[in-house]
Amino acid sequence: MSHIFPRHTAMRPPRAVAGDGCYIIDETGKRYLDASGGAAVSCLGHSDREVTEAVKAQLDAIAFAHTGFFTSEPAEKLADLLIAHAPAGLERVYLVSGGSEATEAAIKLARQFHIENGEPTRARIIARRQSYHGNTLGALSAGGNMWRREPFAPLLVDMSHISPCYAYRGQQEGESEEAYGLRVADELEAEILARGPETVAAFIAEPVVGATLGAVPAVPGYFRRIREICDRYGVLLILDEVMCGMGRTGHLFACDADGVAPDILCIAKGLGAGYQPIGAMLASGRIYRAIEEGSGFFQHGHTYIGHPAAAAAGHAVVSALVDRGLVARSAEMGERLMDALVDRFGQHPHVGDIRGRGLFLGLELVEDREGKVPFAPERRLNAVLKKAAFARGLVCYPMGGTLDGRQGDHVLLAPPFILEDAQIGEIVDKLSGALDDALAA
Ligand code: PMP
Repeated sequence: MSHIFPRHTAMRPPRAVAGDGCYIIDETGKRYLDASGGAAVSCLGHSDREVTEAVKAQLDAIAFAHTGFFTSEPAEKLADLLIAHAPAGLERVYLVSGGSEATEAAIKLARQFHIENGEPTRARIIARRQSYHGNTLGALSAGGNMWRREPFAPLLVDMSHISPCYAYRGQQEGESEEAYGLRVADELEAEILARGPETVAAFIAEPVVGATLGAVPAVPGYFRRIREICDRYGVLLILDEVMCGMGRTGHLFACDADGVAPDILCIAKGLGAGYQPIGAMLASGRIYRAIEEGSGFFQHGHTYIGHPAAAAAGHAVVSALVDRGLVARSAEMGERLMDALVDRFGQHPHVGDIRGRGLFLGLELVEDREGKVPFAPERRLNAVLKKAAFARGLVCYPMGGTLDGRQGDHVLLAPPFILEDAQIGEIVDKLSGALDDALAA
């Protein structure tokens, strides 16, 4: 008996013992096609020797040196590489160990920036409903996933939540996509004015919503309006690309497609591609200079920030994405996977929407397509589907996001960028079979 504390105590998962490209192999030899990269993590698959060699070489040189005393070559090289490709204005990289640490650091940096900048009343964070920014208490306070928040509500920080940009459910009849995007973006201005601009520190959003809605991109024009509103009121824009960044959407940074650059950008997951736990917060030169010329000290930190072996993995991963053309491959294979999904599920009576960008795709499951009526939450369709897919050797990421109070069922697909055409067929066949099983259960 193992003393592991599993998240689901009744769960007896198989032991993963090996990786082979897009597949995970368990101790019985069963192969699982990893169609969600775990949770949009494994962008290079499970057997990338260049990355493992880079980590081994760093461990042989030196595993750890505390950033209170030292920097390291891989951390410096990773920061330079990220900034060389980052959206305009981002100049500094703060390395952390995961996504929640990145968003937590972003929230605190936004707050500290305003203090250093002579506006200490700016403390409020505005976020969106149906979003996820991590599980630490600050990040969870920003998130809008009700199920995740509920038990911890008394401990959460008071933040504002406006509507997400979720066209499938939010766009009204007769309203153009553009008009819808502007309408929901303008909720940010209304909230800033209601609270008083002098009290608002930052707005945080995922360019493509992942863990709560299953790959929902904003409509064109939405983020440009958001950027304008933030600039008008001196509010910082934090983009959380923990899930959708690092090439996942067919752009190295998801916001490149929206034509906006944030003040702070959070990445993780694909940055380490699963080879090491690593995340990062990228900050604008303006923010960095305010700290540099002010107190000279970012009042935040964790023991493992800038971990050399994790940074070596991150550097090898970003090099692989750039040098092997894998971002373009994510765009191309994403289109093919989308076509295959539309072919198979486009007319399916219980698939209401198929959406996403690059290899970050989602399906929304509904009881009634016409009325977009979700399944009853007691049915726990997403959980049943996850099990059925797993039994067929398919790892996908079904989730029960919240639809303004009601439970919804979504499936996220985020396979490795090294995906081949044959595996697209395998994903669609296995998902289709698993959906039949789940609906019949
Ligand atoms: N932000 C987003 C958008 C995420 O999807 C996640 C993880 N699903 C996080 C933050 C938190 O990342 P982590 O689980 O690495 O702490």
